[in-house]
Amino acid sequence: MSVRVSAIRVGRSKDVPFAAAVYGAAGDEKIDIHMFMFVIEAAGTRIVVDTGTLDPEYVRRHHPYAFVRTPEELPETALREYGFDPDDIDYVVNTHLHWDHCSNNDLFRNAQILVHRRELEYAMHPLPLHERAYEKLPGLQAPWMSAWDRTEALSREQQICPGVTVVPLPGHTPGSQGVLIEADNGRYLLAGDAMGVYENWNPNDWRKSIAPTIHTNLFECYETFEFVAGLDCEVIPSHDHRILDSALFRHSVRT
Ligand SMILES: [Zn+2]
Repeated sequence: MSVRVSAIRVGRSKDVPFAAAVYGAAGDEKIDIHMFMFVIEAAGTRIVVDTGTLDPEYVRRHHPYAFVRTPEELPETALREYGFDPDDIDYVVNTHLHWDHCSNNDLFRNAQILVHRRELEYAMHPLPLHERAYEKLPGLQAPWMSAWDRTEALSREQQICPGVTVVPLPGHTPGSQGVLIEADNGRYLLAGDAMGVYENWNPNDWRKSIAPTIHTNLFECYETFEFVAGLDCEVIPSHDHRILDSALFRHSVRT
């Protein structure tokens, strides 16, 4: 089966404490949190997974991150550089509705937006602690609402097309989900923030994986780790630049 996946970087938050990504991490190590959009081409279908952030000035105004973006990393520019027209995208999967995963949904005017039902419910009524992550703030419209009329709520595992299946991965948020890809060189999971960086995931023993620092249910985080271990796949974290070395993106060529 021919499946092609591209990882398109659309900016990064610089010098974020490592402890903000890996629960209980000690020390003052800093890392860059990379923002990616993924484009999957399979069986004549084009699917975008996560849509990134708005512009750096907006991000810095509303979030405590030193977010930067080169002109080439502007989402529409980057997509076209890779040969994709946003109008040709059939589906957008939001792994969850945190601000850095769904802020350009409206760019994909002809796409159906696939979000887990529990995520939509929580995005409307998050704990105060999580309101900023959903941009549920006075004077702001939550970013996922820009395409709410094209949004479909999923409540379970769902195949989008042969080789591409959305799977629930709760814990980071109530309705987190990932995308399982059957490529000709193996199985891969776009994991969203269930595993934001490689240090969240231990491929040899899921019990030694470490939950993301931001989570709504620690027990679900570990049920998700056990579930992922059973998928027998390579995990692709959402925010880790080292994913670009994965064989999944071997066919990813800029036009
Ligand atoms: Zn998140």
